[in-house]
Amino acid sequence: MTNKKYDAIIIGAGIIGNCISYELSQKGYKCLSVDKLGGSGFGSTSGSCAIIRFHYSTREGITLSREGYHYWLNWPRYLKTIDPTGMACYKNTGDLVLKTEINKGLKSVMPIFEELGISYLDLDNEGMRPYMPNSNFKSYFPQKDLDDPDFGKPTQGEINGGVFFTETGYVSDPKLSTHNVEVAARAFGADFMFNTEVTEVLQENGRTAGIKLAGGDIINAPIVINVSGPHSYLINQMAGVEDKMNIKTKALRVEVAHVPSPEGVDYENFGVMISDGNTGIYSRPEVGNHWLIGSEEPECDTLEYVDPDNYELNLTDQAKKQAMRLGMRFSDIPIPSRLKGIVDLYDVSDDWYPIYDKSDLPGFYMAIGTSGNQYKNAPVVGAFMSELIDYCEKGNDHDKKPLQYQMPYIKKSFDIGFFSRNRIINKDSSFSVVG
Ligand SMILES: Cc1cc2nc3c(=O)[nH]c(=O)nc-3n(C[C@H](O)[C@H](O)[C@H](O)COP(=O)(O)OP(=O)(O)OC[C@H]3O[C@@H](n4cnc5c(N)ncnc54)[C@H](O)[C@@H]3O)c2cc1C
Repeated sequence: MTNKKYDAIIIGAGIIGNCISYELSQKGYKCLSVDKLGGSGFGSTSGSCAIIRFHYSTREGITLSREGYHYWLNWPRYLKTIDPTGMACYKNTGDLVLKTEINKGLKSVMPIFEELGISYLDLDNEGMRPYMPNSNFKSYFPQKDLDDPDFGKPTQGEINGGVFFTETGYVSDPKLSTHNVEVAARAFGADFMFNTEVTEVLQENGRTAGIKLAGGDIINAPIVINVSGPHSYLINQMAGVEDKMNIKTKALRVEVAHVPSPEGVDYENFGVMISDGNTGIYSRPEVGNHWLIGSEEPECDTLEYVDPDNYELNLTDQAKKQAMRLGMRFSDIPIPSRLKGIVDLYDVSDDWYPIYDKSDLPGFYMAIGTSGNQYKNAPVVGAFMSELIDYCEKGNDHDKKPLQYQMPYIKKSFDIGFFSRNRIINKDSSFSVVG
């Protein structure tokens, strides 16, 4: 048990929680991160595909990811320290986004890419050929479920080109990147407690007073931040703030399939990431010359919302379906009968955009609802959440006069009120992992 005094307790030592700890510590707040698992990034961050890309459906989504990109390029200097266990590394692959009915050919967002200096090639099917050799460009839309007799059969016509982004890629080891941030936060005085479960959020005189742990110990602090990933709604319930929020969060079970590259193809080093909304999947190169295949939640697939402490940990037909959808496009992909992959949880909000906000309980903050697409933004979120907390603790009312955050890399001002817990549902969202 600790006798130390803390200014802020962060519930959750995932990539976002740790970035908040790192930034708040640099502002002089004495921080304690508490996580029920055994180390940093052991929660949903460990299952992340850690893709760094820009194609969101809204100006805000694109802007945030553009700012975040620069942190990954500048990783060791951002952290100001070297983790002796190794440093995570951003690998640039490029990203081909197929034009679909769902993203409306990216027409409405292309001017935003240009405004933000995001370079891209607008390609027809022939132009896409070098990025997708040995593939077909048939349309499979609308997508079908595995038990549909028409699953895997092309429908009508072809896809109509795509957009290739050069400056996109992925981080090789999301868990290690989170440990990197822990080491950096510790260098600024932050503490971490693992294998420690929070069971209550304490209140005194109308504001947050600290936390109670399983086992009964109490740690006091005037600020508590909920960064508990797929458990976020449970922590909000403990603080008694959930029913006062317009946007809610819940845990979604997802599967990611890993398949080997076809014989003789060095996909790990030369492959590009592909967002194929026509078949309903995204893919990227994976260490070991594999393809990693996630879902873009096509309408025909049932979304599986679960109890984050009690869900199926083994792969099901969902992963097989995703691999087969890749196989529709690339017929030479070998799909093993015993598929490998991962099962993990997204913390999904009602409109698939995160909640980065204060709450109705003074001193209680949240960075939640990351909806399978916020790993890339974690360093920016750490930076503006620390400003938001400082702003509110100095007496400002973020609900009435939202923090305007100045993005240091892209020199834009960002209205953090966009991520309010009390916003109306953002209808421009894709309502999928694309955001
Ligand atoms: C399969 C998958 C693929 C993804 N792919 C991408 C991608 O390609 N690109 C991208 O940008 N994003 C992606 N994401 C999303 C991204 O990984 C998450 O948004 C991000 O990792 C969330 O980090 P976090 O710190 O908020 O949460 P987490 O990493 O989930 O951390 C929350 C922590 O809180 C702890 N906790 C919970 N309850 C308690 C309690 N009561 N007491 C103590 N501790 C508690 C947990 O143990 C956990 O460690 C993906 C996510 C998944 C699951």
